[in-house]
Amino acid sequence: MPVQQPTDSIFNQLDAFGHKKVVFCSDPDTGLKAIIAIHDTTLGPAFGSTRMWAYKTEGDALNDVLRLSKSMTYKCAIAGLNMGGGYSVIIGDSRKDKTEALMRKFGRFIKNLNGEFITSEDVGTSPRDMEYIRMETQHVTGIPESLGGSGDPAPIAAKGVFMGIKACVKEQFGSDSLTGKSVIVQGIGHVGESLVKLLRDENTKVYISDINDERTRQVSKKYGAEAVSNNSIFDIDADIYSPCALGATINTETIKKIKCGIIAGSANNQLQDEQVHGEMLLDKGILFAPDYVINAGGIINCYSELMGFSKKRTMQLTENIYDATRNVLKLSKLENISTTNAANKIAEKRIADIKKVKSTY
Ligand code: NAD
Repeated sequence: MPVQQPTDSIFNQLDAFGHKKVVFCSDPDTGLKAIIAIHDTTLGPAFGSTRMWAYKTEGDALNDVLRLSKSMTYKCAIAGLNMGGGYSVIIGDSRKDKTEALMRKFGRFIKNLNGEFITSEDVGTSPRDMEYIRMETQHVTGIPESLGGSGDPAPIAAKGVFMGIKACVKEQFGSDSLTGKSVIVQGIGHVGESLVKLLRDENTKVYISDINDERTRQVSKKYGAEAVSNNSIFDIDADIYSPCALGATINTETIKKIKCGIIAGSANNQLQDEQVHGEMLLDKGILFAPDYVINAGGIINCYSELMGFSKKRTMQLTENIYDATRNVLKLSKLENISTTNAANKIAEKRIADIKKVKSTY
């Protein structure tokens, strides 16, 4: 998925990313400032999470939502879902600024899109927030299980990442066993912690790092993972680096330092520049599992909720991430292209094929 750098004009930016629609939501009464970006609806309604984050500038928020929504188009396509790509961001500190009224007002903006956009939780939002949105609109998933929803998608997202890691390990070591391998998990929030559990259950050596020291101590003790400082993770000689915090941690500086042969994690948009850093990783022989391929478990969980699938079917669809990753790695090897370009090719082909189906009787 080609990623564009921000330009000075909002409309130039929308043209460059190829978005269908962007909605700016402002409500002084509740303090809501949000952006909903709808990238592509060829495969179905735009599906994407809602992130709440204290962005430094409104431009940063716009750039984030444009990038995230575009990657959702590719994520849904490669996961075989009949959904398009969208995303939304709420500007603010989720610990201080989030209220029931703010979330419900945001739900009203989603309602006004008449099903063109369906959301779920992400960084800074929770099943409880989805419950508030659900009070205003049906176009939300990831609501608590007690209300008939599928609950927190993070454990399923972690399972998908785990399958993606296994597919990479198979490619590099000939077996997909993680016993005796070592993994650095950066960011041990909802997804990161579940991933640590899956890895430790398979006797993997796990290093963890997070900006939240208290959480690091707790997770370290609970699962027997070794806590390391965030500044030193690229000095560790581990097999796998798993970014599970925020994006852009893979850049020119970190690629020079990194000792791991595999990068596979849940964070969205891990490469600071998809083309430049995808190529750098290819040249350096580091196997990169494109984030949108292996972190699709969360969206598969939400999709299953919408479609009324059983838990068993949800798990099967998530386990398919193993084969999807293997296909990407095979195409990358065959054509000597970066894994991101290989994944993009597979996703774009599906979208183009379905466009043809929809344009004919
Ligand atoms: P979360 O907010 O629960 O956890 C993020 C963790 O990262 C927090 O513990 C935070 O303290 C830590 N963190 C933030 N900045 C950091 C830094 N610079 N260094 C180290 N740690 C840092 O979020 P989550 O739901 O676990 O999601 C993690 C990532 O995975 C995000 O990029 C998200 O978009 C992506 N993702 C999440 C899901 C899901 O279902 N939750 C699905 C797919 C992708």
